[in-house]
Amino acid sequence: MTDCIFCKIINQEIPSYKVYEDDKVYAFLDITQVTKGHTLLVPKKHVTDIFEYDPALAGEVFARVPKVAQALEKAFPEIEGMNIINNNKELAYQSVFHSHIHLIPRYSKEDDFSIHFGNHQEDYSSEQMQEIAEKIAKQVTNA
Ligand code: 5GP
Ligand code: ZN
Repeated sequence: MTDCIFCKIINQEIPSYKVYEDDKVYAFLDITQVTKGHTLLVPKKHVTDIFEYDPALAGEVFARVPKVAQALEKAFPEIEGMNIINNNKELAYQSVFHSHIHLIPRYSKEDDFSIHFGNHQEDYSSEQMQEIAEKIAKQVTNA
């Protein structure tokens, strides 16, 4: 895609700090370095977000996540954890609309990174939970 910053990075039209490349994916340091080694893994094929993946592309991209995660862990043995994040659409904090997976190594509680999981368990009855699960399950089977 001509006007996509990550396509330009993949095509070497703009520079990046590459950590891995093969025929399907490209991985490079996120410019903001939330923590040391913060890496983005992107499919070479331009897809906007997870909703455009087919199973083949998903296999190509997600199968490579552990490879990069394990490389980071080997490169920086002081890594104590890792957040792997994939933002999809603006509401969910996506700011570059070429799908990508963040690998954010964690070193300590003082890392400049946070994530909040609210607990809304009390908002749902077991019947409502069942209904929600069934609604999704029906679509998974159809997909
Ligand atoms: P998102 O907010 O879409 O989940 O993540 C996009 C990421 O791309 C951000 O963390 C941002 O720092 C990174 N980014 C944006 N432009 C560039 C760039 O030109 N080079 C690199 N290396 N990272 C970029
Ligand atoms: Zn692109």
